[in-house]
Amino acid sequence: MPYIFALLSVVASILLAFIMGIPIVSEFGLAFFHYEYFILGLVSSIGYYYLIFRRDRSFTKKHLIVGLIIGALSLIIIMTTQYIVLKNMFGNSILTNQYLRIFRMELLLFLLGSIMIPLFVRVGQTKCKRCNKGFFIEDLLYKVKDGYGEETKNLIRLAANKKEAELKSYIKERRITTGYSTRKTNSARSVYLLTCTNCQTQYIASKKHREINDEVSKQTYKVITELDLDQKLTM
Ligand SMILES: [Zn+2]
Repeated sequence: MPYIFALLSVVASILLAFIMGIPIVSEFGLAFFHYEYFILGLVSSIGYYYLIFRRDRSFTKKHLIVGLIIGALSLIIIMTTQYIVLKNMFGNSILTNQYLRIFRMELLLFLLGSIMIPLFVRVGQTKCKRCNKGFFIEDLLYKVKDGYGEETKNLIRLAANKKEAELKSYIKERRITTGYSTRKTNSARSVYLLTCTNCQTQYIASKKHREINDEVSKQTYKVITELDLDQKLTM
């Protein structure tokens, strides 16, 4: 399935290239803007990355390489067409390596564009210190306004007792009473379940919001407790 989406994206980027006037040289001559190539690169892998993110909610190095290959494929098709068009216009006076030299910035920007999404996402992700490979997937458990200290104690106790069912029902109960589903809660903290994509280590952590309804707080996690259950906790 991701590869069907990848193919669609490649086709979309090629179509977009034609709409933008690349590779067919417009009446304005060779005045192409660099960012157009960056956008084309971004579009060429967007479908693939969209599906991967929906499935895994994080990216690995393998996804980066696949994105680069998809980008390169789209780039080769667009640039070859452009090269043929230029060759027809200027005849044999333009050589392949000359062409590559003129457009090297565009080539680089195209490839950078094709891996921008995972690069951007990975920067925002917290790396797992235990395995040093995976990243944490964040699941919002509930939001808490008052009695944070009490909540914390309960969570630590339940996690230490390794009673998965009790922990689960406690979280569910908190979810209901704190209005997890309503976005506009005047909550001071959000409690998350963090799971490493590689070693599956789990933590319960909180994030403090700087102000009411601050959904995009840059504050880092404060680990409440590490989970050491017999099986992975899923909420
Ligand atoms: Zn890990």
